[in-house]
Amino acid sequence: MKIAINGGHYPGLDSGAVGATGLQEAIVTQDLMKRVARYLRTVWYDVTEIQENELYQITDASNNFGAELFISIHCNSAASTSARGTETYCYQLGGVGERLAGCIQSQIIKSLGTVDRGVKTANFAVIRDTDCPAVLVETAFISNKEDEKLLADSTKRDEFAKAIARGITDLVAMGL
Ligand SMILES: [Zn+2]
Repeated sequence: MKIAINGGHYPGLDSGAVGATGLQEAIVTQDLMKRVARYLRTVWYDVTEIQENELYQITDASNNFGAELFISIHCNSAASTSARGTETYCYQLGGVGERLAGCIQSQIIKSLGTVDRGVKTANFAVIRDTDCPAVLVETAFISNKEDEKLLADSTKRDEFAKAIARGITDLVAMGL
């Protein structure tokens, strides 16, 4: 099984959202990407880690690799600092992408106890222009104090990574 894992944004060039403590989304997503990849490799998946500054570089890398599933990892941000929780996006409902999003979403809610904002659709380039079923996970809100605390904690980040990896293996176990 070939899996592409994308850490959103690019350290040094595009920090992504920044929390009140200065925590940068790109640093969190890079760490989560590496951890998810490590867990998936332990169960013999063929994993590529993709972190690029341009969106077309991300989708090209995934498509050239021949990924069978694509997962982009982000941290959410909102003007309202009370917004918090986890949401997972697929490009359209009714397919493998939606099921993958559901598997990852429920594993994160189960293990981290974050607010369940559900599975949603979006016209994001990374999930639209990839050739395989693709999702974008908004792990938690870096703009919310409590969520930022989770994202800053390496033990919690490891739980996020394990939950994402389990979501992927859950989907594969059910059959694509
Ligand atoms: Zn992002």
